[in-house]
Amino acid sequence: MLANWRRTRYLQTCPRALAHRDQIAGQPTTDNPLFYHLSGLVHCALCGHEYYAHPDHPHHQSLTVACTGELVKL
Ligand SMILES: [Zn+2]
Repeated sequence: MLANWRRTRYLQTCPRALAHRDQIAGQPTTDNPLFYHLSGLVHCALCGHEYYAHPDHPHHQSLTVACTGELVKL
């Protein structure tokens, strides 16, 4: 589970990414999810924040969930 303070922060910065993350968390774990590489300093086109500010994947901590619902490795 996501700590409350982190959830609160994501609700303010990237609510769409958080919604996607919650959806993923409710699904069965996938072994090899599709992702692409991106710099964490790139600003998200949807929320305007750096990708570093987005939540991690609930099952794969090395991946980040973007506001588009896509998975990125920073
Ligand atoms: Zn975003």
